[in-house]
Amino acid sequence: MPEVRLVDVSKSFGDEIVAVDHVNLKVQDGEYLTILGPSGCGKTTTLKMIAGLVEPDEGKIFIGDRLVNEVPPEDRGIGYLFQDYALFPHMNVWENVTYGPYVKGWKSGQLRRIGDEVLRMVGLRHRSKAYPRELSGGMIQRTALARALAAGAKLLLLDEPLSALDARLAFKLRYELTRFAKDLKLTAIHVTHDQAEAMAISDRIAVVRKGRVLQVGTPTELYMNPKKIFVANFIGEANFIEGAIASVDRSGSLIDLKGGLRAQSVDKERKKGNRVVLAFRPEVVTVRKGTTSKINKLPGKVEHCRFEGEDIRFEIRLKNEDKVVVIRPSMVGKWFKVGDAVTVSFDPEHLLVYPYPEKGLESELALE
Ligand code: ATP
Repeated sequence: MPEVRLVDVSKSFGDEIVAVDHVNLKVQDGEYLTILGPSGCGKTTTLKMIAGLVEPDEGKIFIGDRLVNEVPPEDRGIGYLFQDYALFPHMNVWENVTYGPYVKGWKSGQLRRIGDEVLRMVGLRHRSKAYPRELSGGMIQRTALARALAAGAKLLLLDEPLSALDARLAFKLRYELTRFAKDLKLTAIHVTHDQAEAMAISDRIAVVRKGRVLQVGTPTELYMNPKKIFVANFIGEANFIEGAIASVDRSGSLIDLKGGLRAQSVDKERKKGNRVVLAFRPEVVTVRKGTTSKINKLPGKVEHCRFEGEDIRFEIRLKNEDKVVVIRPSMVGKWFKVGDAVTVSFDPEHLLVYPYPEKGLESELALE
């Protein structure tokens, strides 16, 4: 069970593209870690550098105690699962799975033993004669996993392994993947742009933007305590409102919003006069009919209302023109109509306060 360490790893392509920018990351023994970020942020390049398929310009990569910068991919003890799994279509399950040991020159008795063992682990011994075209999406995934295990992988690298599957199958297989990785005591690094997938499967998530790791944490830590505006936006959904600190005392800070509205937070880190961005999740907001204007009770009008099955989603235009999205459970929540005058309210402990970004809020939220 290897631990993986990236120390100050960078990779550029040409003069223009900095794909990975001084990344430091430690993946623990037996951990399931996901690298999450928008398209083009450097996830695949990072994975390929760990695999030895791309050479870093700078930095060190360790697998276990071994510095692997100069070690060829086949000697790194890794299994690389691609999006399409890249099984050989003309080989059956057995041949696909034992291909690695076969090309290494293993004898037939050894091949039989390893093939039997890994196919039993993934529950596919009864399909060893089937060809990839005869397998379900889940079986293909398990064959690819068995192939990696037969080749001696203790470290699994998974590049968007669920993105080519239909939504329901992907949903089922995400749990199967993590169960196998845990049962077989593998270390796994999984790359995805899908935050819901990352939240569901990971021990920890590294959120990456423009080649840099912004925050590493458990799904709960990232959701409850995102350290950056981008993380609050990329993990789950959040409302963002601009303001300025009016005062700070022992209980927290009072914040002036546009149009004379005011909010209170338990945050004490900012100073009077600081320009800030407030963030809060749609599900922490309560809505009631009628308008009042008090601290953390903001008047507005229902602008959109959408039934989404388990939830109802309201978009509320505040009196000061800011917009707030509210999500309430549809079976137990109150329903409102478009045009209803309402008051939205939230607790001070649910407000996250960030310094106003240098390049503006829009640029901080952009997913490029
Ligand atoms: P996606 O989710 O879209 O797969 P990603 O986060 O995995 O994206 P990478 O594939 O690592 O991103 O790419 C990071 C940046 O490096 C992108 O701008 C990409 O165009 C560029 N890049 C990647 N590989 C090469 C290459 N071989 N030559 C030139 N540019 C490359």
